[in-house]
Amino acid sequence: MNGKPQSARLLIRNGYVITMDDDGTIFENGAIAIGDSGRILAVGYDSDIGLAFSATKTIDAGGAPVHPGFVECHLHASYHLFRSVLPDQLVESESFDTFEGHFYNTVNDEEEYFSVLLACMEMVRNGSTCFMEAGTILTPAMAAKAANEVGVRAILGDPFVWDQPQGFAQGKTEDKQGCSTCAAQAKLHTVLERAPKTRAEALAVLGNELRRNADPDALVTGHVAVLGLGTASEELMMEAKACADAASVTLNIHQSYSPADTEADRNRFGKDPLVHLHETGFLSRNVTLGHANHLTDAECDALLDSGASIAWAPAASMMWGHGSSLHGRHAELWRRGASIALGSDSPNWSNDFDLWRQANLAVMAARDVHMDRTYLIAEDGLYMATRGGARAVGLEKQVGSLEAGKRADIVIHTLDRPEMVPSTNMIRNLFYASRSKSVHTVVIDGRVILEEGRFTQLDERAIYAEIREASRSLLSRMGHTVEANAVPRMRRQG
Ligand SMILES: [Zn+2]
Repeated sequence: MNGKPQSARLLIRNGYVITMDDDGTIFENGAIAIGDSGRILAVGYDSDIGLAFSATKTIDAGGAPVHPGFVECHLHASYHLFRSVLPDQLVESESFDTFEGHFYNTVNDEEEYFSVLLACMEMVRNGSTCFMEAGTILTPAMAAKAANEVGVRAILGDPFVWDQPQGFAQGKTEDKQGCSTCAAQAKLHTVLERAPKTRAEALAVLGNELRRNADPDALVTGHVAVLGLGTASEELMMEAKACADAASVTLNIHQSYSPADTEADRNRFGKDPLVHLHETGFLSRNVTLGHANHLTDAECDALLDSGASIAWAPAASMMWGHGSSLHGRHAELWRRGASIALGSDSPNWSNDFDLWRQANLAVMAARDVHMDRTYLIAEDGLYMATRGGARAVGLEKQVGSLEAGKRADIVIHTLDRPEMVPSTNMIRNLFYASRSKSVHTVVIDGRVILEEGRFTQLDERAIYAEIREASRSLLSRMGHTVEANAVPRMRRQG
């Protein structure tokens, strides 16, 4: 190596660098140089990078794994203040009217901010550096403030782009009339006072978050989110799609989550939902479907043909018993070349924002249901959480792998965890044993957010104390006492 070393903002040295590039390159004794722009300048062998760059700050990875930050593709970031409040005996069809509806009609801006702050901190601790929110935060500015304070990459949507909120069929068995029963259902559903109620009101908010994209270096950007599950008319869905297309961003929608909403869509479209949505041009490469647990053969073909992505949320389905591991086609679609990413959903649907857990559950469930250890391997899960996620949120040129020119969103683990000892096979140790437990240092956009297990800019304990207080206040105003689970079966009488 000749000449003066090039200056870098940050060097990460002595890492087991899993680049997730197209060739699956791993530098067993690797290093990464990061520039002032927050982008990666070079990735390679430690001996080469160490000579070629001199940096203001150097992090010694101690031989531990270093990989691209995970990308969360399906989540609701504002529910953390009532995490784990829903008891196990609650049926899903009652969850909206007994909890979420009250939540939205009670929560204030500061409480939304605290929820998202906690969600962001949790994601960073678990190795996620970017998330796409599902468009269910009443005041997205509060989410932007929280994400910026933590320093996490966030992709926000407009709040509640819907025009038939009464069409909400989550977990609810519809009759054969589908949405023709909307008027009757309207009386059953809690009305969200601050959310749009008509198409005109939905169109008034649609696209507002895209203004964030004017700054090419913004950490918080916008996309188009539609809640789905029968809450949007087809006209509104197509308006949203046109808006996403014009802005070259992702359109993110819940789709075919439970048997009930899948059936309701089949009734209103007159055929398999994805087949219809492909025929109308709604389904395309920039569309990401949250869940997609219930697909027919024809819908799998439509998905593959369209290039749309699925954000697979295995824990959410398992939590509420929707059968994605038994009936889902995610793993099969992945093997056929579909774009599959992962999501944690929400703090009463999987209860933690940990993509390592989702990736592990996805791989394990696929093996079990197909009765084949080789059906998915650890690397498949890693790909879904990194490159798959980047593609599903429309940032595949920016994040998802450790390559020169990409944003420096990087997770460094520690070997000082029992699960990482002995260090036999680093990928298998990580994926099956330590997962997020060994996340040690996290860099986002070239900034060190978490260093050796501590947030560099946040007083974690003080924030947790404030959030506990905010949660108590919110729950008491919602009129909720936290109900225990029903008595365990082995202790029941008779
Ligand atoms: Zn969701």
